[in-house]
Amino acid sequence: MLLCFFTRSSFGFVARSGTKGWRSLASATTETAPTVKELPVNYSMEEIVSLCKRRGIIFPSSEIYNGYAGFYDYGPLGCELKKNVKDAWWRFFVTSREDVVGLDSSIIHNPATWKSSGHVDGFSDPMVDCKETKLRFRADQLFFSPVINEQNEILGYACVQENTDEQMVKDAKKQVKDLLKTLDKAGEAIQAFSFKEVNEATEEEMKQIPSPASGKPTLTMPRAFNLMFQTQVGALSDESSTAYLRPETAQGIFLNFKNVLTTSRQKIPFGIAQIGKAFRNEITPRNFIFRSREFEQMEVEYFIPPGDDVWPEFHQKWMDDSREFLLSIGLREDLMGWDVHKGDKLAHYAQACTDITFKFPFGEQELMGIAARGNYDLTQHTEGSGKSLDYFDEQTKEKYIPHCIEPSLGVDRLMLALICSAYAEDEVGGEKRSLLKFDPKVAPIKVAVLPLVKNKEALVSVARELFDKLRVRWNCQWDATGAIGRRYRRADEVGTPFCITVDFDTIEKDNSVTIRDRDTTEQVRIPMDEVVSYLSKQIDGYA
Ligand code: ATP
Repeated sequence: MLLCFFTRSSFGFVARSGTKGWRSLASATTETAPTVKELPVNYSMEEIVSLCKRRGIIFPSSEIYNGYAGFYDYGPLGCELKKNVKDAWWRFFVTSREDVVGLDSSIIHNPATWKSSGHVDGFSDPMVDCKETKLRFRADQLFFSPVINEQNEILGYACVQENTDEQMVKDAKKQVKDLLKTLDKAGEAIQAFSFKEVNEATEEEMKQIPSPASGKPTLTMPRAFNLMFQTQVGALSDESSTAYLRPETAQGIFLNFKNVLTTSRQKIPFGIAQIGKAFRNEITPRNFIFRSREFEQMEVEYFIPPGDDVWPEFHQKWMDDSREFLLSIGLREDLMGWDVHKGDKLAHYAQACTDITFKFPFGEQELMGIAARGNYDLTQHTEGSGKSLDYFDEQTKEKYIPHCIEPSLGVDRLMLALICSAYAEDEVGGEKRSLLKFDPKVAPIKVAVLPLVKNKEALVSVARELFDKLRVRWNCQWDATGAIGRRYRRADEVGTPFCITVDFDTIEKDNSVTIRDRDTTEQVRIPMDEVVSYLSKQIDGYA
């Protein structure tokens, strides 16, 4: 199914209205108008993973040693994309607001932090082991169903990992085929599957549920597995030196609440923002950078007064702002959704939590969470440290432990959603290819400078001068090889929004250049001294 299908019968050669000094192009480098399809999620993760590798966006970590599950490296384009995403977030939520300030806390805190926050005792996922293959699975991501024939007899069980509904049924059907064969009942009709988490299986059922790894009933009963990575700090390696790599950036913010309050002249309501690495020993890291063991988070703790009538408005505002930010950097709105946590999905101390979800190729999943956390963390750290973390309101003369709203967004997960949003295919002259339509704010390369020919010294040196001027501000690419159309294609493939061609008219007639827009393929002729302000408007949103 196609969500969008753009066909352009004509293109380019017009100046945008209201733009002083640009003129229509009578002739320039021509290209065949592409037919661009923004794809729904009918492309696979394999396609995304392979595209990321081919284009130098993301590589498996330590690949020459066959990789390391749950760890990834960002290549030349990936690290630019990542930096742009973090810069955009920081500008949106910190520098353009007066009520949020930044923080960069250490990754390893005093281990008492994690005792007080509840992570030592409770930061775990249910896990099952396959006794034969030694593989581990998250019990809440492993689903089993009885295999029942038309006479209502249970013939056995199927057990598959969480995936899209269609894929789970497909995987289960494969197992059923084998099961029926071994029972000498090949071809026998069976009833529809009814999947339940392995977490909910009884001991009796567990004895019959096949491990997806061994195909035999070799799974252990579920047990809690703490996700924090341990390390030793100092020369002694006994229990007293055990410390943890932070599993979230938020606790560093709570620990510094008083430091920031007394040094920043902020008054409640105000927020502290932090971007940084977090580490979780995920039982089954999967779906590429969606769930990895080392990742980055962008979090704000926004401190507000207590009261049941206070938090809902702030919570709503942070949900609205988060959505606005995601749309502003090019996330596809048609792939976004909301998931309001209810009942036992809500942490015991939280008043509310709503996730913004995204339709990834493997299904709709949490992209970020926006929680109203009450004053749980500051209260816990007050008790744990014996230091007061309260706030005195000068106006009301009240003293209280502030409550907080916590928008928490994974950088890597957002990057995956942005790559999925940008992924498109087009056809040029009957040839199909994939391209990336990154928003100019986050595009790894903002501008490609293309001298029309590479053997005319005067032309090349003018182009080079422009290139040097632009790359002081943005990540730009110099591309002097091949036909212009081919160079446009190369730029499109890595998501570069603007290509600038320096041609003979530039040096002989008008001292202007042609700027071609990736998405519309429109071309405008711009005087050389207006190129920076034109691009600033297009890329940064201001001149
Ligand atoms: P999940 O249920 O997917 O494990 P979570 O609810 O435990 O996520 P939080 O603890 O709320 O996640 O973390 C906030 C954000 O950090 C998530 O919304 C996600 O964007 C990101 N995140 C969490 N765990 C990972 C991970 N293992 N890999 C990449 N990003 C992650």
